[in-house]
Amino acid sequence: MKEVILGKYGELALKGLNKSHFEAILTREIKERLAPLGEFSVTRAQSTVYIEPQNEAAERAVGDAFYEVQHVFGITAVARAAVAEKDMDSILRTAKDYVPQFLYGAKTFKAEAKRSDKKFPLTSPEISAAVGRAICEVMRGRIKVDVTSPDVTVITEIREAGAYIHAGTFPGAGGLPYGTSGKALLLLSGGIDSPVAGYMMARRGVRIEAVHFESYPYTSEQARDKVLELARILCEYTRTMNVHVVSVTKIQEELRKCCDEDYFTLLLRRSMMRLAERVAKKCGASALITGESVGQVASQTMEALTVTDCAVNMPVFRPCIGMDKDEIVVRSRQIGTFETSVLPYEDCCTIFTPRHPKTKPELEKVLAQEAKYDYKTLEDEALAGETVYPVKRKIMG
Ligand code: ATP
Ligand code: MG
Repeated sequence: MKEVILGKYGELALKGLNKSHFEAILTREIKERLAPLGEFSVTRAQSTVYIEPQNEAAERAVGDAFYEVQHVFGITAVARAAVAEKDMDSILRTAKDYVPQFLYGAKTFKAEAKRSDKKFPLTSPEISAAVGRAICEVMRGRIKVDVTSPDVTVITEIREAGAYIHAGTFPGAGGLPYGTSGKALLLLSGGIDSPVAGYMMARRGVRIEAVHFESYPYTSEQARDKVLELARILCEYTRTMNVHVVSVTKIQEELRKCCDEDYFTLLLRRSMMRLAERVAKKCGASALITGESVGQVASQTMEALTVTDCAVNMPVFRPCIGMDKDEIVVRSRQIGTFETSVLPYEDCCTIFTPRHPKTKPELEKVLAQEAKYDYKTLEDEALAGETVYPVKRKIMG
């Protein structure tokens, strides 16, 4: 029996004239992800992508292909479907062979039909009634029909190219195809929030690179590896990502010598923003992304965010800004970064932390502190020592 994958895309359909551009990027993304698994054809019709194996390797890899398609931004739902000839005999035979495996553990089901090929001799209600009967027959009383809230919905779609039968649609990654909304640079710490922030922007179609600031030897090599591992996990969705690592050790040491302790964190954050803006310009990114959330820590009050923001001219996107920590944690578990984020390595922000950080900083006073040390030269030097790590996924694509 031939099995295919159906990927539904939703929001793209609203994009008017850009729709074909979005669809082309979506199709290319799927093709590139599937290329290492075997030969697949990828076609589109009625807001659905059809992924059909074209050789034996591909047929064997339908499970892996399913995983791939589930990680493609822009796809809202994914299903595995069996293909039947467009006649009722073939449809019923296929339904009987294919559907029972999806009914394991279910008590109730309902059959639905969609008929986009209006030339097909039976109506949708007639098709679903026949499929429903066939399934009841093969299940011999082990499952009941429930049309209001079934455990499983079996769908038969009659399309131009054939009849597709599937039972169980799984959520896709949602959002917009990766790379359709420009490029931004993610400030990636080893924490919980910034990987989530990067994921959220990538899901809206923004291509991302990352910058990580370290304070070696105050921060360890493991801390850097942890950040690269977080980037690798994000690559399940983005496939590749450059991580720029910049040392801020000298900046922090100089700050400690020259400035009031209460301002350490704010001044460091302003340096990080300026450095990030320069990295962004070099790699063609037109915005910065951080994992900040109002009120989470002293450096994330409205006043502190204003002071960090005005260190740069680029827009700063903060997709977690209105989220509670609990909500961010839920997201990070869902995308698989949580376990790595909570590994206990130090971050450059956590060393030399002031005992009484300014929660309502005034810009003039911050600027007066900043004038006490030569941050420009220090930042030039920090950037000169930048290392770029091209991160990829461990397996496949
Ligand atoms: P996170 O979980 O993202 O670490 P946090 O609550 O620990 O967040 P902060 O340490 O104040 O917050 O950092 C706020 C944001 O600044 C982070 O979300 C991240 O975008 C950026 N940031 C902090 N430290 C670094 C770093 N060492 N390298 C790159 N970006 C950083
Ligand atoms: Mg942090």
